[in-house]
Parts: sequence; structure tokens; C-alpha cells
Amino acid sequence: MTTRIGRSLVPDSRRQWYNRNCPHFTPYSFGHRSMLINLLYHDVTPAGHEDDSGFSGPGAARYKLTPAEFQSHLERIAKTTRRSPLTSTSPEELASTNQPQWTITFDDGGLSALTEIADKLERYGWRGWFFMATDFIGQPTFCSREQILELHQRGHVIGSHSCSHPERISSCSREQLVDEWTRSCRVLEEIIQSPVTTASVPGGFYSKDVARAAVAAGIRVLFNSEPTTKPHHVENALILGRYNVYCGMSADNAASLVKSPLRRWRQAAFWNMKKVAKVVAGPTYKAIRQRILARNFPE
Ligand SMILES: [Zn+2]
Repeated sequence: MTTRIGRSLVPDSRRQWYNRNCPHFTPYSFGHRSMLINLLYHDVTPAGHEDDSGFSGPGAARYKLTPAEFQSHLERIAKTTRRSPLTSTSPEELASTNQPQWTITFDDGGLSALTEIADKLERYGWRGWFFMATDFIGQPTFCSREQILELHQRGHVIGSHSCSHPERISSCSREQLVDEWTRSCRVLEEIIQSPVTTASVPGGFYSKDVARAAVAAGIRVLFNSEPTTKPHHVENALILGRYNVYCGMSADNAASLVKSPLRRWRQAAFWNMKKVAKVVAGPTYKAIRQRILARNFPE
């Protein structure tokens, strides 16, 4: 006997073995090749006004697009794919797509989510995922509670981006991690009056412990910043990678992240190179990065 899971026919004996021996290895993922291309944006601010939305400083500015840039990205992506970005928060559904799908996500919860981004997405009939760092809600350059509720009511997905946006979340203790995820989800649930079971990892500092703590807080879909299209599971949560979009990236390059495996491979290769540099150079890497940023974004 076999069971159809996505496009694969999985023998029942094998499936039962996995269910018995790997209780966290959920059967819907087994033997199936789903492909999710997740784009990671941050804020959209006019040139010279980068500090008007979200976190300030040259490091954050690197990920802020101008309204014209963002518009051109959406236009180009719309020409590339006829599919609307996914907004299902069900890990089962996300893991069982049998066609390449994509999502568009926005980290931090800056004010531009409502002032620049939502309208532009909705013109295409699209909806995004907005991840909020909840300690910053209501601060001058971040969304207010009312704005978060409005985004939710307009059909966008609201998720957690931790409470305090720790500089290096993977260095937090288990207790801190569970607290960051649990409190941020509760704050957002209270605002939107709906369960919040999705989150993204701040700063790209993903680790298995970060994911396990998210699971303990009830998170079922966790985005990190690893440039990959292959979802995987940690306990009962689906972990999804993302492709970073930064200031100055051309519309063609953004669209080719959705369309071209080669383009995605290039970003993955660069990411892995950086990972090695971080391990080898340690604190020196941080100092070099700060120096480069200071040169590109003089204050
Ligand atoms: Zn962030």
C-alpha cells in the first residue's frame, strides 16, 4: 500500500516507520520536494530619509529601498510570475506545494509597512508577511497597534520578529529565547485578536535552539535568512529560508531571485562564503563590516 504525499507515492511501511521512529518528522514532508522562494525585504523610504522608518543607521539603511525601486521590483516580479505570493500560515499547506511558490516578507515592523508597502502590494492583489519587533510598536518610526491591526484586516500576515530584536539572538539563553518568542506573539495576538503562529529570526542569527524555543512558544512557521528554497522541520515547525533584497538591487535581479535558480545559487554561495568569513575572522569580521558600511553610508 502507498500514500500519495504531494507528487510522491510513499510506501505505508516506510511512512509508518518514520512516524514511529521520528515523531517530529511530520509525514506531510516525507518524500516530497516543495519549493518555496521567500523574499526578504525591510523598509521602503525615500532616498535621504532612511531613518524615517524602522531601525536607524547605516547597517539598517542597506536594506531599505526607495519607493521607486520597490515599485519597479514589484512590476518586474509581476511580469516574471503569474502566481500571487502565498500567505497561508499552515505548515502543512506550505510544505505540500507541488509547484514552485513564492512569498514576500518584511522584517522589523517599520512605519513604511503601511505608508509605502501595503498599497503597492495590494495594487497587484498581493499580500505580504510583516514581522514585528514588538518592543518597538508605537515608537515614532515603527507601526502603531492600530496600523498593525489595519494590516491584518487588509489580509496581510502578521508575525513575530522577537520583542527586543536582540543583536545576536542565537547567543540568548533558552529562557530568554522562549520569552522573546512567547511575549511577542501574545502582544500581537492581543492586537489582532487572532492566533500568531509565524515568526522571522532577527539579524539572520538562526540556530536550532532559536527554532526549538520558537516551537515552545507555539510558532509553527519560522523564517530565517538562509538563502534556500528547501523547507525543513524542527520538531513540528516548518523552517523556511529567505533571499535578501537590499538597497540598489536592480528590479531584474530581484525578479530573477523568483525565476532563476542560478541567481539564487549565487546568493547562496555568497552567503556561505560570509558564514565562513564570520567563523574564521570572528570579531575582525564585524570590524571590517562596520568600516565598509561607514564608507558606503557616511553619516
Ligand atoms: Zn530585523
